[in-house]
Amino acid sequence: MFTPFRGALVALACFVCSPQSSAQGAGVLTPTASGYTWTRGALRFELRNRHATWSTADVAKLQSGLDRLPDVLLQHAMQTKVVKLYRDDVPRKRLGLKTKASATTVIDAGAISFGDVLFTRSADTVYRTVVHEFGHVAQYAITRKPPFVAFLEVLARGTPGFSDISWSSILFNGLRSHNGFVSDYARTNDREDFAESVEFYWINPVELLRVSPQKYLFIRDRVFNALSSPPSSRLPGALAIGPVKPVISQLGDSADDPLSLVKISGEYFMGIKDGGFNRVHYRGKRALHLPISRKTLYSWVPWLSRGAAPVTVTTQDGISAPQAFTVKKPWWKFW
Ligand SMILES: [Zn+2]
Repeated sequence: MFTPFRGALVALACFVCSPQSSAQGAGVLTPTASGYTWTRGALRFELRNRHATWSTADVAKLQSGLDRLPDVLLQHAMQTKVVKLYRDDVPRKRLGLKTKASATTVIDAGAISFGDVLFTRSADTVYRTVVHEFGHVAQYAITRKPPFVAFLEVLARGTPGFSDISWSSILFNGLRSHNGFVSDYARTNDREDFAESVEFYWINPVELLRVSPQKYLFIRDRVFNALSSPPSSRLPGALAIGPVKPVISQLGDSADDPLSLVKISGEYFMGIKDGGFNRVHYRGKRALHLPISRKTLYSWVPWLSRGAAPVTVTTQDGISAPQAFTVKKPWWKFW
Protein backbone atom coordinates (compact mmCIF):
# COMPACT_ATOMS: atom_id res chain seq x y z
CA MET A 1 0.00 0.00 0.00
CA PHE A 2 1.31 3.45 -0.90
CA THR A 3 1.47 5.93 1.92
CA PRO A 4 3.01 9.39 1.81
CA PHE A 5 5.58 8.20 4.37
CA ARG A 6 6.55 5.17 2.31
CA GLY A 7 6.64 7.36 -0.81
CA ALA A 8 9.05 9.70 0.91
CA LEU A 9 11.22 6.74 1.94
CA VAL A 10 11.31 5.41 -1.62
CA ALA A 11 12.21 8.87 -2.89
CA LEU A 12 14.98 9.12 -0.32
CA ALA A 13 16.28 5.61 -1.12
CA CYS A 14 16.25 6.40 -4.82
CA PHE A 15 18.16 9.57 -4.21
CA VAL A 16 20.79 7.63 -2.27
CA CYS A 17 21.08 4.79 -4.77
CA SER A 18 20.69 7.00 -7.81
CA PRO A 19 23.49 6.57 -10.35
CA GLN A 20 24.34 10.25 -9.89
CA SER A 21 25.34 9.60 -6.31
CA SER A 22 27.60 6.62 -7.02
CA ALA A 23 30.76 7.22 -5.03
CA GLN A 24 33.74 8.86 -6.52
CA GLY A 25 36.23 10.94 -4.77
CA ALA A 26 39.53 10.73 -3.04
CA GLY A 27 40.83 7.23 -2.41
CA VAL A 28 43.21 6.32 0.37
CA LEU A 29 46.81 5.80 -0.64
CA THR A 30 48.92 3.49 1.54
CA PRO A 31 52.63 2.69 1.01
CA THR A 32 53.47 -1.03 0.86
CA ALA A 33 56.66 -3.06 0.45
CA SER A 34 56.15 -3.20 -3.33
CA GLY A 35 54.61 0.23 -4.00
CA TYR A 36 51.24 1.52 -2.80
CA THR A 37 47.62 0.55 -2.52
CA TRP A 38 44.79 2.83 -3.52
CA THR A 39 41.48 2.02 -1.83
CA ARG A 40 38.03 3.56 -1.82
CA GLY A 41 35.33 1.59 -0.06
CA ALA A 42 35.45 -1.94 -1.43
CA LEU A 43 37.70 -0.93 -4.33
CA ARG A 44 41.35 -1.84 -3.96
CA PHE A 45 44.16 -1.44 -6.50
CA GLU A 46 47.82 -2.31 -6.04
CA LEU A 47 50.33 0.12 -7.50
CA ARG A 48 53.30 -2.20 -7.86
CA ASN A 49 56.89 -1.39 -8.74
CA ARG A 50 58.15 -3.68 -11.48
CA HIS A 51 60.66 -2.54 -14.14
CA ALA A 52 60.43 0.96 -12.65
CA THR A 53 59.40 2.50 -9.35
CA TRP A 54 56.30 4.51 -8.48
CA SER A 55 57.69 7.93 -7.56
CA THR A 56 55.65 10.29 -5.40
CA ALA A 57 55.02 12.49 -8.44
CA ASP A 58 53.84 9.54 -10.58
CA VAL A 59 51.56 8.30 -7.83
CA ALA A 60 50.03 11.76 -7.43
CA LYS A 61 49.15 11.83 -11.14
CA LEU A 62 47.73 8.31 -11.09
CA GLN A 63 45.79 8.99 -7.93
CA SER A 64 44.21 12.13 -9.35
CA GLY A 65 43.08 9.94 -12.25
CA LEU A 66 41.63 7.18 -10.08
CA ASP A 67 39.93 9.69 -7.80
CA ARG A 68 38.01 11.11 -10.75
CA LEU A 69 36.69 7.70 -11.85
CA PRO A 70 33.35 6.33 -10.64
CA ASP A 71 32.89 3.10 -8.71
CA VAL A 72 30.84 1.67 -11.57
CA LEU A 73 33.83 1.74 -13.94
CA LEU A 74 36.36 0.52 -11.40
CA GLN A 75 34.05 -2.31 -10.33
CA HIS A 76 34.45 -3.82 -13.81
CA ALA A 77 38.14 -4.11 -13.02
CA MET A 78 37.51 -5.59 -9.56
CA GLN A 79 35.12 -8.12 -11.09
CA THR A 80 37.70 -9.10 -13.74
CA LYS A 81 40.45 -9.07 -11.07
CA VAL A 82 42.46 -6.42 -12.89
CA VAL A 83 43.86 -4.89 -9.72
CA LYS A 84 47.63 -4.69 -10.34
CA LEU A 85 48.85 -1.38 -11.72
CA TYR A 86 52.48 -1.93 -12.66
CA ARG A 87 55.06 0.79 -12.98
CA ASP A 88 57.33 -0.25 -15.84
CA ASP A 89 60.05 1.50 -17.78
CA VAL A 90 58.32 0.41 -20.99
CA PRO A 91 54.80 -1.06 -20.73
CA ARG A 92 54.70 -4.87 -21.04
CA LYS A 93 52.13 -6.79 -23.03
CA ARG A 94 51.41 -10.51 -22.88
CA LEU A 95 54.55 -12.72 -22.46
CA GLY A 96 56.45 -9.68 -21.23
CA LEU A 97 56.69 -8.15 -24.72
CA LYS A 98 57.33 -4.41 -24.78
CA THR A 99 54.94 -2.01 -26.48
CA LYS A 100 55.35 1.52 -27.81
CA ALA A 101 52.10 2.55 -26.09
CA SER A 102 52.37 4.63 -22.91
CA ALA A 103 50.23 2.08 -21.04
CA THR A 104 48.70 -1.29 -21.76
CA THR A 105 46.15 -3.64 -20.23
CA VAL A 106 46.69 -7.40 -20.02
CA ILE A 107 43.35 -8.70 -18.92
CA ASP A 108 44.36 -12.30 -18.24
CA ALA A 109 47.35 -11.14 -16.18
CA GLY A 110 45.01 -8.96 -14.11
CA ALA A 111 47.22 -5.97 -14.78
CA ILE A 112 47.66 -2.58 -16.37
CA SER A 113 51.23 -1.57 -17.13
CA PHE A 114 52.26 2.10 -17.11
CA GLY A 115 55.52 3.26 -18.70
CA ASP A 116 57.99 6.10 -18.08
CA VAL A 117 56.80 8.18 -21.01
CA LEU A 118 53.30 8.57 -19.60
CA PHE A 119 54.52 10.29 -16.46
CA THR A 120 56.46 12.89 -18.42
CA ARG A 121 52.99 14.14 -19.44
CA SER A 122 50.40 16.19 -17.60
CA ALA A 123 48.10 14.88 -14.86
CA ASP A 124 45.15 15.30 -17.25
CA THR A 125 46.87 13.11 -19.85
CA VAL A 126 47.55 10.46 -17.22
CA TYR A 127 43.90 10.69 -16.18
CA ARG A 128 42.75 10.22 -19.78
CA THR A 129 45.04 7.22 -20.17
CA VAL A 130 43.72 5.69 -16.95
CA VAL A 131 40.12 6.02 -18.18
CA HIS A 132 41.15 4.53 -21.52
CA GLU A 133 42.80 1.50 -19.90
CA PHE A 134 39.83 0.86 -17.60
CA GLY A 135 37.73 1.19 -20.76
CA HIS A 136 39.61 -1.82 -22.17
CA VAL A 137 38.92 -3.72 -18.96
CA ALA A 138 35.21 -2.87 -19.18
CA GLN A 139 34.92 -4.31 -22.68
CA TYR A 140 36.11 -7.69 -21.38
CA ALA A 141 34.20 -7.42 -18.11
CA ILE A 142 30.81 -6.94 -19.73
CA THR A 143 31.14 -10.38 -21.36
CA ARG A 144 30.88 -11.74 -17.79
CA LYS A 145 33.31 -14.50 -18.81
CA PRO A 146 36.60 -15.46 -17.15
CA PRO A 147 39.36 -13.06 -18.28
CA PHE A 148 41.12 -15.21 -20.88
CA VAL A 149 37.84 -16.48 -22.34
CA ALA A 150 36.64 -12.86 -22.48
CA PHE A 151 39.87 -11.85 -24.21
CA LEU A 152 39.48 -14.53 -26.91
CA GLU A 153 35.81 -13.83 -27.33
CA VAL A 154 36.28 -10.08 -27.81
CA LEU A 155 39.15 -10.73 -30.21
CA ALA A 156 37.20 -13.22 -32.28
CA ARG A 157 33.69 -11.84 -32.19
CA GLY A 158 33.95 -8.30 -30.91
CA THR A 159 31.26 -6.92 -28.63
CA PRO A 160 27.70 -7.41 -29.90
CA GLY A 161 25.98 -4.04 -30.16
CA PHE A 162 29.27 -2.16 -30.27
CA SER A 163 31.57 -3.78 -32.82
CA ASP A 164 28.91 -3.51 -35.49
CA ILE A 165 28.91 0.28 -35.04
CA SER A 166 32.70 0.38 -34.84
CA TRP A 167 35.55 -0.04 -37.27
CA SER A 168 35.70 -3.63 -38.25
CA SER A 169 37.64 -5.63 -40.77
CA ILE A 170 36.36 -7.33 -43.89
CA LEU A 171 35.57 -10.34 -41.67
CA PHE A 172 33.00 -8.52 -39.57
CA ASN A 173 30.04 -6.30 -40.03
CA GLY A 174 30.78 -2.75 -39.08
CA LEU A 175 30.65 0.89 -40.07
CA ARG A 176 33.07 0.64 -43.02
CA SER A 177 33.52 4.32 -42.49
CA HIS A 178 36.20 6.67 -41.21
CA ASN A 179 33.50 8.65 -39.39
CA GLY A 180 31.78 7.98 -36.08
CA PHE A 181 35.04 7.90 -34.10
CA VAL A 182 36.24 10.20 -31.35
CA SER A 183 39.89 9.99 -32.45
CA ASP A 184 42.07 8.72 -35.22
CA TYR A 185 43.41 6.10 -32.81
CA ALA A 186 39.87 4.81 -32.24
CA ARG A 187 39.89 3.76 -35.90
CA THR A 188 42.59 1.16 -35.14
CA ASN A 189 40.07 -1.57 -34.26
CA ASP A 190 36.91 -2.02 -32.21
CA ARG A 191 38.89 -2.52 -28.97
CA GLU A 192 40.69 0.80 -29.20
CA ASP A 193 37.42 2.37 -30.27
CA PHE A 194 35.72 0.96 -27.19
CA ALA A 195 38.43 2.31 -24.86
CA GLU A 196 38.43 5.71 -26.57
CA SER A 197 34.63 5.86 -26.41
CA VAL A 198 34.67 5.07 -22.69
CA GLU A 199 37.25 7.83 -22.21
CA PHE A 200 35.16 10.44 -24.03
CA TYR A 201 31.94 9.32 -22.39
CA TRP A 202 33.50 10.18 -19.07
CA ILE A 203 35.66 13.21 -19.83
CA ASN A 204 33.54 14.98 -22.44
CA PRO A 205 30.32 13.09 -23.23
CA VAL A 206 28.94 15.78 -25.54
CA GLU A 207 31.75 14.98 -27.95
CA LEU A 208 30.97 11.24 -28.00
CA LEU A 209 27.31 12.06 -28.49
CA ARG A 210 28.24 14.33 -31.40
CA VAL A 211 30.31 11.75 -33.29
CA SER A 212 28.20 8.69 -32.47
CA PRO A 213 24.89 8.80 -30.59
CA GLN A 214 24.77 4.98 -30.82
CA LYS A 215 28.14 4.54 -29.14
CA TYR A 216 27.17 7.11 -26.51
CA LEU A 217 24.06 5.10 -25.60
CA PHE A 218 25.91 1.80 -25.59
CA ILE A 219 28.70 3.04 -23.33
CA ARG A 220 26.29 4.91 -21.06
CA ASP A 221 24.06 1.90 -20.49
CA ARG A 222 26.45 -1.04 -20.67
CA VAL A 223 29.56 0.38 -19.04
CA PHE A 224 28.43 3.21 -16.77
CA ASN A 225 24.99 1.99 -15.78
CA ALA A 226 23.49 5.34 -16.87
CA LEU A 227 25.82 7.35 -14.65
CA SER A 228 26.96 10.68 -16.06
CA SER A 229 30.19 12.35 -15.07
CA PRO A 230 30.29 15.27 -12.64
CA PRO A 231 31.96 18.53 -13.74
CA SER A 232 35.05 17.66 -11.67
CA SER A 233 35.65 14.61 -13.89
CA ARG A 234 35.24 16.47 -17.17
CA LEU A 235 37.80 17.97 -19.52
CA PRO A 236 35.74 20.28 -21.73
CA GLY A 237 38.81 21.11 -23.83
CA ALA A 238 39.15 17.49 -24.97
CA LEU A 239 37.61 17.46 -28.42
CA ALA A 240 36.78 14.58 -30.69
CA ILE A 241 37.77 14.69 -34.34
CA GLY A 242 35.53 16.11 -37.04
CA PRO A 243 33.97 14.39 -40.05
CA VAL A 244 36.19 13.33 -42.93
CA LYS A 245 35.88 12.21 -46.55
CA PRO A 246 38.46 10.81 -48.95
CA VAL A 247 41.35 13.13 -49.78
CA ILE A 248 43.71 12.82 -52.75
CA SER A 249 47.03 14.38 -51.84
CA GLN A 250 49.00 13.35 -54.90
CA LEU A 251 48.81 11.43 -58.16
CA GLY A 252 51.77 9.38 -59.36
CA ASP A 253 51.54 11.14 -62.76
CA SER A 254 49.75 14.34 -63.65
CA ALA A 255 49.34 13.29 -67.28
CA ASP A 256 49.42 9.92 -68.99
CA ASP A 257 47.96 7.76 -71.73
CA PRO A 258 44.67 5.88 -71.48
CA LEU A 259 45.09 2.46 -69.81
CA SER A 260 48.29 3.51 -68.01
CA LEU A 261 48.69 2.85 -64.30
CA VAL A 262 48.46 5.83 -61.94
CA LYS A 263 49.19 5.72 -58.22
CA ILE A 264 46.77 7.70 -56.05
CA SER A 265 48.07 8.80 -52.65
CA GLY A 266 45.88 10.33 -49.98
CA GLU A 267 43.85 9.54 -46.91
CA TYR A 268 40.62 7.91 -45.82
CA PHE A 269 40.47 5.35 -48.60
CA MET A 270 39.20 1.88 -47.75
CA GLY A 271 42.12 -0.53 -47.31
CA ILE A 272 42.13 -4.12 -48.50
CA LYS A 273 41.12 -5.55 -45.13
CA ASP A 274 38.53 -2.89 -44.41
CA GLY A 275 35.64 -4.04 -46.55
CA GLY A 276 33.62 -1.15 -47.92
CA PHE A 277 34.31 0.33 -51.33
CA ASN A 278 36.41 2.81 -53.25
CA ARG A 279 35.42 4.20 -56.62
CA VAL A 280 37.83 6.06 -58.83
CA HIS A 281 36.67 8.36 -61.61
CA TYR A 282 38.58 10.20 -64.35
CA ARG A 283 36.48 12.96 -65.91
CA GLY A 284 33.42 11.23 -64.46
CA LYS A 285 34.29 7.87 -66.03
CA ARG A 286 34.76 4.97 -63.67
CA ALA A 287 38.26 3.53 -63.61
CA LEU A 288 39.55 0.10 -62.67
CA HIS A 289 41.54 0.32 -59.46
CA LEU A 290 43.34 -1.73 -56.86
CA PRO A 291 43.27 -0.74 -53.16
CA ILE A 292 46.59 -1.14 -51.36
CA SER A 293 45.92 0.62 -48.05
CA ARG A 294 43.91 3.45 -46.51
CA LYS A 295 46.47 5.79 -48.09
CA THR A 296 47.21 4.21 -51.46
CA LEU A 297 45.23 3.08 -54.49
CA TYR A 298 46.39 2.14 -57.97
CA SER A 299 44.16 3.04 -60.89
CA TRP A 300 44.12 2.50 -64.63
CA VAL A 301 43.31 5.54 -66.74
CA PRO A 302 40.05 4.79 -68.56
CA TRP A 303 39.73 5.00 -72.32
CA LEU A 304 39.10 8.72 -72.70
CA SER A 305 39.82 11.30 -75.37
CA ARG A 306 42.76 13.53 -74.59
CA GLY A 307 42.38 16.53 -72.35
CA ALA A 308 41.64 17.34 -68.75
CA ALA A 309 40.29 14.39 -66.73
CA PRO A 310 40.09 15.33 -63.04
CA VAL A 311 40.39 12.34 -60.70
CA THR A 312 38.12 11.69 -57.72
CA VAL A 313 37.87 8.91 -55.15
CA THR A 314 34.49 8.04 -53.63
CA THR A 315 33.86 5.90 -50.54
CA GLN A 316 30.97 5.56 -48.11
CA ASP A 317 32.26 8.77 -46.54
CA GLY A 318 31.73 10.82 -49.71
CA ILE A 319 33.66 12.09 -52.68
CA SER A 320 37.10 13.66 -52.67
CA ALA A 321 37.94 17.01 -54.17
CA PRO A 322 39.08 16.50 -57.78
CA GLN A 323 42.79 16.25 -58.50
CA ALA A 324 44.01 17.59 -61.85
CA PHE A 325 45.00 15.02 -64.45
CA THR A 326 45.42 15.16 -68.22
CA VAL A 327 44.85 12.29 -70.60
CA LYS A 328 47.54 12.35 -73.27
CA LYS A 329 47.33 11.15 -76.78
CA PRO A 330 49.03 7.73 -76.78
CA TRP A 331 52.35 7.75 -78.67
CA TRP A 332 51.15 4.90 -80.87
CA LYS A 333 47.92 6.58 -81.83
CA PHE A 334 48.78 8.33 -85.07
CA TRP A 335 45.29 9.08 -86.41
ZN1 LIG B 1 44.17 1.10 -25.85
